[in-house]
Formats: sequence, C-alpha cells, structure tokens
Amino acid sequence: MNPRPVAVTATTEIIRGLPRVRLNEAYTNALACAGLIPLIVPPLPPDLVTSVLDAVAGLVLTGGEDIDARLYHATPHASNGPVHAARDAAELTLARAARDRGMPTLAICRGIQVVNVAFGGTLVQDIPSEVRTEINHDPKARTTRVHAVDITPTSALARVFDTTHLTVNSSHHQSVDRVAAGFTVTGRAPDGVVEAMESADPRWWMLGVQWHPEELIETPEDWDRRLFAAFAARCAAR
Ligand code: MN
Repeated sequence: MNPRPVAVTATTEIIRGLPRVRLNEAYTNALACAGLIPLIVPPLPPDLVTSVLDAVAGLVLTGGEDIDARLYHATPHASNGPVHAARDAAELTLARAARDRGMPTLAICRGIQVVNVAFGGTLVQDIPSEVRTEINHDPKARTTRVHAVDITPTSALARVFDTTHLTVNSSHHQSVDRVAAGFTVTGRAPDGVVEAMESADPRWWMLGVQWHPEELIETPEDWDRRLFAAFAARCAAR
C-alpha cells in the first residue's frame, strides 16, 4: 500500500531574527513511524488553505498558541499568551473543511481546542485559576506520563486504546469547556478536565486529545502508537 500524505498544521515564529514556519519534529516522526507522509502546512489564508485538503488523505491539527478568546465570544484572560490570528483563521477553516469532506482528523492539544471552537464550543482559558485541581497540567517534562485519563468505555477511543484507563503527559493550561454540538467528551482527567473528545457524526472520524501522543510513541505503553496507527488506517481507507 502506498504511504498516504497527511496535512500537518504548523505555526510561524521569529527564530534567529527571521519569521519561520515551525513544527516540533516529534509530530512528523510519529506520523512517519505510522507509515504516513507528513506535509507541513503553514498558516495560509482561508481561501487557499482549504485546497490543501485536495492533496491529502487526512488532517493533523497540532499544538501551539492559545486561541484568541474572542473567537468563542469570551473576554481574553490575563494569562493568555500572544495570539496568532493567521493560524487561528487557517486552522478553524481546515477543521470545518475536513468535516465537510469527512476527512480523517487527528486533533492534538491546541488541535482539540481548535475543533471545539470551530463548531461553537468554548474553552477553559486558564486551568490553574478556573479549575479546583491538585494536578499540574503544565509541568516541564513533555515525555513523562504525569496524570491519569479515564476513557468512556463505549467510545471510539476506547476501541483504539483497548483500555479505558491511561496515563498521559500534559503540557497545557487551557482545555475544552462547553463541548460543541456534534461532539462527545470521551476522556477526562481525575479533576474533570477534558482530555479527549470525538466526533459524534459517523461520517467524520475525528479524535481529539489534550495530551501529546507524539511525544509518547517510544514508551512501553502502546496507547499512543495505537492512536497514530488508527489514524493511518483511516487515511489508508480513503
Ligand atoms: Mn492534562
């Protein structure tokens, strides 16, 4: 079977004095390990970015900046980092276009938040100040499993992982709050923070996770490898 190309969103950032397109290599490594060809997509204007989906079999929405709170009709919290308007616009457009096409979509960290906002959901803007919790969702270590996630037994994710109890890494201070219509929360941390969400529409395979599976593919636990393998299988079926 020919390896399928997938679109992988990226940010832009000034590095050594020049604005550059940037993506953590862990994403492209994890996708390549699953037999996919990752094609990095910069924050293109919405009228152009939709056409990217003509060339790929799947979409990966990656981690990054806080989404502009005004896009979900909230007043930005003081803790919000600098927003990236072009990236917000491109990724919201891609999420909606992927659903229109029924294109397999894997949404990671900021990605799960993008999907939720794209379809009318809202976000917890700052977990430390808005959620009563003992869990540090943003420790320094990116590749360490630091908290549990309970998965809904009847969910697509439970079938992917073949378990309903995982431990995951965590690198976020925001999370899904009110879930958008058409989606189901299927994973939560013990403090109730939303850690996974999936499309309730059988015509659109979309799994979203708040952790970073791409940083966990070399651990003894195979859950995160299984997530990428499930995505690859969906892309291959198109
Ligand atoms: Mn977390």
